[in-house]
Amino acid sequence: QSKAAGRNTLRFFDPAMQAVVSARASLDNDLRIGLKQRQFQLYYQPQVDDAGNLVAAEALLRWHHPQRGMVLPTEFIPAAEESDLILALGDWVLETACAQLVTWAARPATATLCIAINVSPRQFRQPDFVGRVLSVLAASGADPCKLKVELTENLLLDDVGQTIAKMEALKTQGVGISLDDFGTGYSSLTYLKRLPICELKIDRSFVRDILTSPDDASIIKTILTLAHNLGIDAVAEGVESDAQRAFLANLGCKAFQGYLFGRPVPPAEFDLFVERAPADA
Ligand code: C2E
Ligand code: MG
Ligand code: MG
Ligand code: MG
Repeated sequence: QSKAAGRNTLRFFDPAMQAVVSARASLDNDLRIGLKQRQFQLYYQPQVDDAGNLVAAEALLRWHHPQRGMVLPTEFIPAAEESDLILALGDWVLETACAQLVTWAARPATATLCIAINVSPRQFRQPDFVGRVLSVLAASGADPCKLKVELTENLLLDDVGQTIAKMEALKTQGVGISLDDFGTGYSSLTYLKRLPICELKIDRSFVRDILTSPDDASIIKTILTLAHNLGIDAVAEGVESDAQRAFLANLGCKAFQGYLFGRPVPPAEFDLFVERAPADA
């Protein structure tokens, strides 16, 4: 201990630790400022059916930081999740996606598109989460049936009764529930059966090596069978090549998302993408 530091002063003697702490404090601060100054944007990535038709878009958060440049969610979502910032950010995502649904609903080429938003466990755990979603939907005029909420399996470690009740409340209003990154978490098959979910998203880590790894191929086969038996959809994430798409289609997969069909892009670019796509391919 340093006497010079005095009794009431906390000092870091490990410069590496100090760097981590101050980097973290400045990230939190920047996130706060970023929300105020509208530095966030939702990008949209297409989801297609087995005929190649565009059916939905996943909203993916991007942060345009004045000095850091474009920051990807993997770099700031974990930090935001440790504080209440994720709640403000989550509300913003919900509002922005609903406004986008209304814009798309007004134009024939995009009228039937659904939007999937990612919801962090902390956000979903808010006692008034369902009320928030429904009031944003109502205020925006967006069709609840076109909104999907992507949750991760880890949420299923929470109180199952409450989780199911919230999911049911959303489902009753038409909002779809999708389990993201499926296969990487801890979900129990017993609970899965009880959950009112409409879709499993097969994690892209299984899709990546599907052509060369018999293990990954059989995991995907199992997930597809599971989804089929539960009567819900399965979407393959991270499809980058037509060979992967064909392999998945051959296993019975009917919905796809990945760079093969389109990268996440800002709304204006997504609109161009829609215009270029054949009207009814
Ligand atoms: P996710 O929900 O699993 O989203 C899919 C991620 O895979 C996205 O990364 C997307 O850009 C990427 N991806 C899509 N297709 C391909 C592909 O063919 N190849 C490869 N290599 N990657 C592909 P992104 O946008 O960096 O987002 C990462 C994660 O951050 C998301 O994973 C999600 O968990 C989280 N996230 C993104 N937006 C939000 C948000 O608004 N709220 C919350 N709570 N989390 C978000
Ligand atoms: Mg997702
Ligand atoms: Mg995912
Ligand atoms: Mg993921």
